Amino acid sequence: MPVFGIGTWRMGESGRKRAQELDAIRHALDLGYPMIDTAEMYGDGGAEEIVGEAIAGRPGRPFIVSKVYPHNATRAGTVAACERSLKRLGIERIDLYLLHWRGGARLEETYEAFHRLRAAGKIADFGVSNFDRQDMEDAARLDKGLTGSNQVLYCLSRRGPEFDLLPWMRKRQMPLMAYSPLDQGALLGKAAVNKLAGELGCTAAQLALAWVLAQPGVVTIPKSATRARVKENLGALDVKLTPQVLAELDRAFPPPRGKQALEML
Ligand code: NAP
Repeated sequence: MPVFGIGTWRMGESGRKRAQELDAIRHALDLGYPMIDTAEMYGDGGAEEIVGEAIAGRPGRPFIVSKVYPHNATRAGTVAACERSLKRLGIERIDLYLLHWRGGARLEETYEAFHRLRAAGKIADFGVSNFDRQDMEDAARLDKGLTGSNQVLYCLSRRGPEFDLLPWMRKRQMPLMAYSPLDQGALLGKAAVNKLAGELGCTAAQLALAWVLAQPGVVTIPKSATRARVKENLGALDVKLTPQVLAELDRAFPPPRGKQALEML
């Protein structure tokens, strides 16, 4: 799985913003973003349609991640939801198909459908989202530890997963996909982030993303519908954080000392 991609939450919700959103995704692809994260929930299918339009006719399409709503995640409902997503995306196979959060249908049913979809070639792999450590234990029992990924809220200002979820996943070589890596923009106003970014000669967003990327076993999907920011965010891949900078960030944003229930947006 690629380590970096563009997120699409809040895209596809308004006709007025559509052209800008489409342009941002196309720009990301032109710059070499290797992955796009979307979901049937985003814009009620509107985000998947924009992604479909952005990737149409391009050679070598990016790795596509999409998600099924929990209330659709029954045995038959998951298959039907996936078919709808494939149609909106205009592709034959989703690379990674996730259960958006736990609830709704029984996990056994969702997994049965995931296996069926994979056997039919409609998804290459599957996984979950917003699953805490205990949820992962349950999922692994159903799937003999084969779950492809778990997409969760993880960034400098929300480090809870480091206590037990991330180590559990690392042990199984399962990548954690960090969503809201900029804490939806909130991190960009933090004094420590701005000070260190200034010293390093990068932007606050690049520093926040570089920190996520510096965590072993973690990949991330910042969202932007603004051309310049799409380029800026990709620049995070070139920012190297020294042990001193990482230590300063630990002081400003301390790692968890005990179990924290997984936060969710
Ligand atoms: P995020 O990526 O942390 O932040 C996005 C926000 O920051 C947007 O308002 C964006 O504005 C702004 N932004 C982006 N780059 C910036 C930059 N360089 N400088 C200043 N502002 C910048 O938050 P997110 O969208 O919540 O998370 C990323 C993706 O993760 C989502 O889009 C979605 O694909 C996924 N996600 C998944 C779940 C889940 O439950 N599985 C939940 C939340 C998110 P502009 O667009 O105007 O540039």
